Amino acid sequence: MRLKGQTAIVTGGSSGIGRAVCVKLASEGANIVIGFGHDSEGARETELRCRAYGVNAISVQADMADEEACDRLFLEALDMNERVDILVNNAGITKDNLMLRMSAEDFDKVIRVNMYGAFYCMKRASKIMLRQRYGRIINISSVSGLYGNAGQVNYAAAKAGLIGMTKSLAKELARKNVTVNAVAPGMIETRMTEALPEEVKAEMKKSIPCGRPGKPEEAAFAVSMLADPEASYITGQVLSVDGGMF
Ligand code: NAD
Repeated sequence: MRLKGQTAIVTGGSSGIGRAVCVKLASEGANIVIGFGHDSEGARETELRCRAYGVNAISVQADMADEEACDRLFLEALDMNERVDILVNNAGITKDNLMLRMSAEDFDKVIRVNMYGAFYCMKRASKIMLRQRYGRIINISSVSGLYGNAGQVNYAAAKAGLIGMTKSLAKELARKNVTVNAVAPGMIETRMTEALPEEVKAEMKKSIPCGRPGKPEEAAFAVSMLADPEASYITGQVLSVDGGMF
């Protein structure tokens, strides 16, 4: 129960990696605010799994592209426990296409959800965590943001942007005991990767030294490590969880 009494906000907690993060942090004793876009049933399921550990868990609808909606996450968290110890910016979307076919609209949408959403939440978290003189911010980036990926110019830009934001904010908050890190998953089995064409999935699997895709729980473990109070001297880092891919 290393996180007992703490409060964590996890965006996009209704499925996949976000759900696994919520459950892992709850198993460590944290109260959880689950941000979700549209999937209220998924969020409810996450809530129930978290509560099984005897913590508080609530779901809040918050479209990450909407600044005011992001505010709601923080108001609810403060209402629940008067603190926000952990923020996990996990919500994300892809709209893949080769550059010549990518519309400006699809570029914009991916940047809005993946990057602006994280910006809105980090801004609010920074204010609260500076006041508390404690906090852990973890951004879910991607190997695409580190190494690029054909068909993902928009997504790679957003995920690389998140890394730049992580490293810069880490420097701003370091003196106040607030750490900011990123986790860069490779291929993790979730709805996002399920949607990929079979031949792309097969090709990706071949490039994983571990010989298999990762599980959401394996990405969640990395998040929980960085969220630990003892991870106090790790900041501005990007931790790859990719089965040795890069
Ligand atoms: P997922 O589709 O299961 O999860 C994405 C989550 O984001 C969902 O809960 C969804 O409801 C939420 N979301 C989407 N649009 C939103 C919006 N506008 N507002 C609020 N929430 C919104 O897929 P996942 O794989 O669990 O993805 C989680 C994160 O991990 C994403 O940021 C993704 O880019 C990143 N990631 C995933 C992989 C992978 O292989 N699965 C690899 C690298 C990075």
